[in-house]
Amino acid sequence: MQERCVFCRISAGEEWGAIVWDDGERFVFMDRYPVTVGHTLVAPKSHRNDVLEMTEDDVGKLFSLAARVARAIKTSLNPAGINILQNNGAAAGQVIFHAHVHVIPRYQSPVDNPIKTPGKNRLKVTEGELLETASVIREAMRGV
Ligand SMILES: [Zn+2]
Repeated sequence: MQERCVFCRISAGEEWGAIVWDDGERFVFMDRYPVTVGHTLVAPKSHRNDVLEMTEDDVGKLFSLAARVARAIKTSLNPAGINILQNNGAAAGQVIFHAHVHVIPRYQSPVDNPIKTPGKNRLKVTEGELLETASVIREAMRGV
């Protein structure tokens, strides 16, 4: 049997993650290596390598939840803007091969603060900070 990927292990509670939301089919959690404060990931709970392995309906639900997360981030963290990004395949910048959508709050203009993915420009944050941000976004999701 193939070893489960890191996002499957986070989803199952076998590995630490700052979980924001779990609707049984999809889950929302803080990126461990955020490019900005509030950088959040939305993923299906059942393993799919990328959205090309998902039904159109499931992709729609994934992005619907990402839009809800974006609204919650807007109301709670009040960024100037928000990127919703999704990468498929190493050539497209995908690093973890479990389908996921990035919701990235932006506090400055992209000229001042370009996103460099993958790997570059990541913030150093503690688990406590991630849990706190997760809690703030979770609270906001109840109201949007
Ligand atoms: Zn997985």
